[in-house]
Amino acid sequence: MWTKETKVVILTGAGISAESGIRTFRASDGLWEDHRIDDVATPEGWERNPQLVWEFYQERRRQLFEVEPNPGHIALSKLEDYLDDMLLVTQNVDNLHARAGSKNPVHMHGELEKLRCEECDYVGVMMEEHDLNSAFVSCPECTNAMMRPHIVWFHEMPMRMAEIETALNQCDVFISIGTSGHVYPAAGFLASAKQQGSYCIGINLESPLNFDLFDEFHQGKAGEILPGLIQQWTRTKE
Ligand code: NAD
Repeated sequence: MWTKETKVVILTGAGISAESGIRTFRASDGLWEDHRIDDVATPEGWERNPQLVWEFYQERRRQLFEVEPNPGHIALSKLEDYLDDMLLVTQNVDNLHARAGSKNPVHMHGELEKLRCEECDYVGVMMEEHDLNSAFVSCPECTNAMMRPHIVWFHEMPMRMAEIETALNQCDVFISIGTSGHVYPAAGFLASAKQQGSYCIGINLESPLNFDLFDEFHQGKAGEILPGLIQQWTRTKE
């Protein structure tokens, strides 16, 4: 099944970062770090209580200095080195794929490291000490405007969807890792890939919602399963 020419799309979710110590959504019954999603991950929540939302993301941003990529992230960067055509799409907002060596992960739900100006749309990595405290940060371009987290909240449009759809329409293999299949449009990628003839592989701690569509499913922790699987996949046709 695998050669260097095999076209692969990979979708990762919060589960791939769980072994690095970042909590998932579903692990805590639909709460994110003990907060209701409506309060911290919607534009309405931001409008209602920007201070709460800001502090929530500042905590997640500071946490990036306390966590490390795990063997699952590292195995995926090795797979990317082996393949000529692989697109890694992540729903995660942490930076662990890039820190494990992945070259250009598509962060469809945004990135904790970046802030965005609501006035002029300036986006930049802002992770200096003074950017990480609890006070709001002003835009470096238009100075007075307040920056918001560069995160795609529920009811907002995910990023780089055209690029993702093109890759999904052409891939030979689609692999979904550590995602519960609750959050759309990402949860629909499996059905799209399957419909256009891709071989679909799932890796998850428990059966995700769309389990029936997988051609192959590996149950367990991504950090434990992925290194062996990837070694196997890249060895077969070398
Ligand atoms: P989710 O929390 O809904 O589901 C996580 C899935 O991972 C579950 O099915 C769980 O069984 C599985 N899982 C847990 N530990 C695992 C492991 N070690 N190996 C393999 N699978 C494991 O996550 P989701 O589907 O990605 O959707 C949630 C949304 O939450 C995303 O939009 C994302 O932006 C956001 N989120 C991101 C982070 C992060 O950036 N690390 C963390 C929490 C939530």
